Amino acid sequence: MSQSVEDIKPGYPLFGQPEYQDMIARKREMFEEGHDAEKVKEVFEWTTSEEYKELNFARKSLTINPAKACQPLGSVLCALGFENTLPYVHGSQGCVAYFRTYFNRHFKEPVACVSDSMTEDAAVFGGQKNMFDGLQNSLALYKPEVIMVSTTCMAEVIGDDLNAFIGNAKKEGYIPEDLPTPFAHTPSFVGSHVTGWDNMFEGAARYFTLNYMEDKEVGSNGKINLVPGFETYLGNYRVMHRMMQEMGVDYSLLCDPSEVLDTPADGEYRMYAGGTPIAEMKDAPNAKTTILLQPDQLVKTKKFITNTWKHDVPATNIPMGLDWTDEFLMTISEISGKEIPESLAKERGRLVDMMTDSHTWLHGVSFSIYGDPDYLLGLTKFLQELGCEVKHILANNGNKRWRKKMEALIAEAPGTAGAEIHIGKDLWHFRSLVFTNKPDFMIGNSYAKFIQRDTKAKGEEFEVPLIRLGFPIFDRHHLHRNTTLGYEGGMYMLTTLVNSVLEKLDDDTRKMGKTDYGYDLVR
Ligand code: SF4
Repeated sequence: MSQSVEDIKPGYPLFGQPEYQDMIARKREMFEEGHDAEKVKEVFEWTTSEEYKELNFARKSLTINPAKACQPLGSVLCALGFENTLPYVHGSQGCVAYFRTYFNRHFKEPVACVSDSMTEDAAVFGGQKNMFDGLQNSLALYKPEVIMVSTTCMAEVIGDDLNAFIGNAKKEGYIPEDLPTPFAHTPSFVGSHVTGWDNMFEGAARYFTLNYMEDKEVGSNGKINLVPGFETYLGNYRVMHRMMQEMGVDYSLLCDPSEVLDTPADGEYRMYAGGTPIAEMKDAPNAKTTILLQPDQLVKTKKFITNTWKHDVPATNIPMGLDWTDEFLMTISEISGKEIPESLAKERGRLVDMMTDSHTWLHGVSFSIYGDPDYLLGLTKFLQELGCEVKHILANNGNKRWRKKMEALIAEAPGTAGAEIHIGKDLWHFRSLVFTNKPDFMIGNSYAKFIQRDTKAKGEEFEVPLIRLGFPIFDRHHLHRNTTLGYEGGMYMLTTLVNSVLEKLDDDTRKMGKTDYGYDLVR
């Protein structure tokens, strides 16, 4: 039964061996006091019914698999996007272990982020002592040039004051007065990871510019600022650099973790790599304007940039798909006075060509989708452009304003006009939706693989395959290196979608002598 050194097996084949199967069956019978298989099947079937869906949607006090992460996770990603900056979370160790493992599993990279490990005594007496020691140790051990501080629920529940604590740490000499320490309160009992990113960015913008506005003048550095928001596709940072460089536009990408989350394996560990220089953030108010790449998720940032930097923030959408990439580039062109170059026009033409090539396979295919608010708007728009149908759109972290925008968008095309929009709902709700009104595919992060398993358990004809686009993706490798924005992003998403459709068609037509009249070499 034990492993043999001659033939080490991973868990999947190993536990399939008869000895293990017997042991698991005996354990179930003797110790688990489970119901018999028939009862389990009966309850499973009930959970797939319309009756269960109604009960499920009446649920108020419980969230099951929420389709969002918590605020400080977003603030950590934001901090990682600045040069020589250490993300620091004031709160419990367990929370920060979760953020790090979440990112490790998605990016397959080490992620530097410290916690000041508040425990029971700090919960009673406040966490100032933890912060003093934490800041001092972080600086001594990891030598950052900037420490960006956010909070977990615990610190927020007891009302710890970051401004006062950090100020006291400096006054009492735990860290130098001139060490930059932007901060943001990120209580996770409200909002989500996208709010946490917004809060941390606003905190950094506030810290580096609010008291230094006297010598600032809109447009004086001739640049355009780009603010990405919570963004985990590393190609999206790179495509922004490329498009701006091809246009010859002077720009600042304010926050860029694409280096530190994609460091080479060359024998040298880089705790800090790349990132937006703090000098660019300090200079940002001097830009002509700021474009928010995920505007619905950057509410606080927009308010600060408008009120303090006095930037007239253009009303653009996430640059995803054809039309909204056009809109983005035309806005950049208008503000910068630079022509859209031939290289980008050609790239656009290639995307249009690909859309034309694939439209017969994608037209009328239906999708149920979930994820973050701006991404869902962009994805819905692109699915419309591809002639696809959308049955369900679920954003746990969507709000009423977002819902209105989405309602207006889905009304623009017959294939999406009937889509149901759900905010504040979780993946257990989503499961009910795909069981009771089956789409051809789901699009989302890795978590929906269990919904795919369940739909298949009901019967082959009920299976809803998952297309992995979103965050987090734990069970496939390197997808986070791809691009979903710009024409390049459209190409990647289109390739993913159409090949998923063709994979499924191959699966359905592989039965020899039965369905293989459709198992074609050329699609
Ligand atoms: S929700 Fe609160 S307690 Fe849970 S991991 Fe996030 S910060 Fe920590």
